[in-house]
Amino acid sequence: MRRSRSRNIQPLLREISLSKTDLIAPLFVDELITAPRPIEAMPGQFRYPVSGIAGVASALWKKGIRAILLFGVPKEKDSGGTSAYLPEGVVQQAVRRVKAEVPSMVVITDVCACEYTDHGHCGIVGETRCGPDLLNDPSLILMNKIALSHAESGADIVAPSCMLDGMVGSIRTALDDAGFEEVLIMSYSTKFASALYGPFREAADSGFTFGDRSTYQLSPGNSREAFLESQMDADEGADILMVKPAGFYLDVLSEVATIGLPVAAYQVSGEYSMIKCAAKNGWLNERETVLESLTCIKRAGADLIITYFAGEVAGWLDEE
Ligand SMILES: [Zn+2]
Repeated sequence: MRRSRSRNIQPLLREISLSKTDLIAPLFVDELITAPRPIEAMPGQFRYPVSGIAGVASALWKKGIRAILLFGVPKEKDSGGTSAYLPEGVVQQAVRRVKAEVPSMVVITDVCACEYTDHGHCGIVGETRCGPDLLNDPSLILMNKIALSHAESGADIVAPSCMLDGMVGSIRTALDDAGFEEVLIMSYSTKFASALYGPFREAADSGFTFGDRSTYQLSPGNSREAFLESQMDADEGADILMVKPAGFYLDVLSEVATIGLPVAAYQVSGEYSMIKCAAKNGWLNERETVLESLTCIKRAGADLIITYFAGEVAGWLDEE
């Protein structure tokens, strides 16, 4: 076997190579700030003001990144998450600004309510048999409104992340009825209730006031259920499936890839911060670790990788 690994031959036989079009950069837009604000739990990441987001998108575009995923931090929250679907909402403004400045950038929007509700859950909360919890069908109506408002602002792809039953079918119908047949749905189809989302809660100000998200997100040990969730979203009309988080769930990712639709994998905040912190301490080589993690995510079956390292990786790929 070593004949094939000689220095000259090795590059010819490489099975998996990363490219910039594999990468999606997540960005946080904060309605309340006027200058970029560092996210402490995610060294090197920032929340950006609405006025600055087009500049950030433009800089990523110049590096070769062709898609961004927007999260909003609104100035007001309420129990119904109403600021999530205002025409002048934070994400809606950000989409318009990015599309005006960098029209070819693929703008993906996170469709959820947890950043917009005062209780921090992903939709409408009410009484259930086991106490207060997220209500499924009333929340679907809210997701339709959010997705439509994003499409009206110019989003190319909406990405529902709430793990509600029927969310993809519901949003597809709402988009089609309003004339947005060309807007894609990238579903957070297989999303685990993961401890790795910890740093994100600071980033997006989306902690919850009671309970947790384990009644709508998947239990880490359940791979059959994880596959079924993505299969159902495919049946409902999703254009792109997703597995989140990525690195701990490569077995699930490779199974979901067998469905046949494009699959995105989300390298989440905790995965980012673990590498960053170890690198800061000199315990890991950041560049090598990041490139290895992304290569392995792609090898497991991801067509797209959402990663906070996107901008840096684009620079490294240029150097290689
Ligand atoms: Zn949510």
